[in-house]
Amino acid sequence: MPELPEVETVRRGLAPAMEGARFARVEARRKDLRWPLPKDFARRLTGLTVTGLGRRGKYLLADLSSGEVLLMHLGMSGAFRVSRGDDDGGGKLAAHDHVVFHMSNGATVTFNDPRRFGSMKLVARAKLENEPLLRALGPEPLGNEFDAAMLAQACAAKKTSLKAALSDQTIVAGLGNIYVCEALFGAHLSPKRAASSIASKGKPNARAVALVEAIKSVLQAAIAAGGSSLRDHRQTDGELGYFQHNFRVYDRAGKACPTRGCQGKIKRMVQTGRSTFYCPVCQK
Ligand SMILES: [Zn+2]
Repeated sequence: MPELPEVETVRRGLAPAMEGARFARVEARRKDLRWPLPKDFARRLTGLTVTGLGRRGKYLLADLSSGEVLLMHLGMSGAFRVSRGDDDGGGKLAAHDHVVFHMSNGATVTFNDPRRFGSMKLVARAKLENEPLLRALGPEPLGNEFDAAMLAQACAAKKTSLKAALSDQTIVAGLGNIYVCEALFGAHLSPKRAASSIASKGKPNARAVALVEAIKSVLQAAIAAGGSSLRDHRQTDGELGYFQHNFRVYDRAGKACPTRGCQGKIKRMVQTGRSTFYCPVCQK
């Protein structure tokens, strides 16, 4: 499932095709994705201009000239494809191409989603604060307000593991299995450790500080890597959704721990139904 860095990379890839452009024609090729598409979806979008393309957690938010926001989520397998009128991608539809935006600038933006866990929803900008999909989201991990004090406070009363706490979108938005594993590795903290142990008497301790630093740094590195793959694949097929990064622990069970001087091997275990990858030697 795409996490914050992938969604941010998709946003950056879509922005040149969508920002400032009008929906000249919209094809809703089925009535539902994860949930039903908004009623009269294609008709309601047609003629509107995208005034900005933002992101909140794993959601893309296209601001529309109608005062509405088009909320889009990639789900498990969703991806966008951008093609220009002058190459052959513009007119050809593939299996699982569910929604097609023909933009006034000549770009065609196609949403493809084989497993259909993705979603699109229209919400009035004025009511965005009450939108159930967004209301419960925790802070943006790359925002200035997200710091050790905030994370420690959110974790202090939790009875779960650190892995589960960081995967909880109400504690911090946009992290998933991959970047939680990578951040815990970066902070040398065990995924099994109690979430509450990053607070001492309600105050953030050194673990909280290390963890916030590691979260920000793994996300920034992944966004930077996404930016480079974006530049690479502009020359190829224009598919926006998944990027292969070099992870330090994720999906590396049995490999040597990359921490300098550590003799450990990366282990895989299952926590709350998901694989966790970690080094049992240097993550305490
Ligand atoms: Zn290690």
